[in-house]
Amino acid sequence: MAEDCIFCKIANGEIPSNKVYEDDKMVAFKDLAPAAPVHVLLVPKAHAKDITEASPEIVAHMMGKVKEIAASLGVAENGFRLVINTGDDGGQTVKHLHIHLLGGKALGWPPC
Ligand code: 5GP
Ligand code: ZN
Repeated sequence: MAEDCIFCKIANGEIPSNKVYEDDKMVAFKDLAPAAPVHVLLVPKAHAKDITEASPEIVAHMMGKVKEIAASLGVAENGFRLVINTGDDGGQTVKHLHIHLLGGKALGWPPC
């Protein structure tokens, strides 16, 4: 766990969140400021600042759970979007790897 990392604290239950999925390696919880009707964050329990620091195994594990989580949220059929903001130019505000899963409406593209 990294000092003063909000997603470490959410992942270990120190800070409450609306969890939609949890296992020994990751959690998924509702975003505090949803950008779509469905907006959850998939977060590894082990701290990694971003995808460049995380192990390929944990990235693969989280991606492997996407189908199940999307189905549980009711967006698997109509589709959804995964976003991994990385670093300052990527617009990452919380420096603990997270995968946004967005859906529940037709999303615009490009995002900027
Ligand atoms: P980023 O901009 O780093 O890709 O995304 C960070 C996301 O975390 C934002 O969508 C923001 O709304 C969400 N967020 C920040 N703090 C909290 C929090 O304390 N709880 C929850 N559930 N989401 C948070
Ligand atoms: Zn962390």
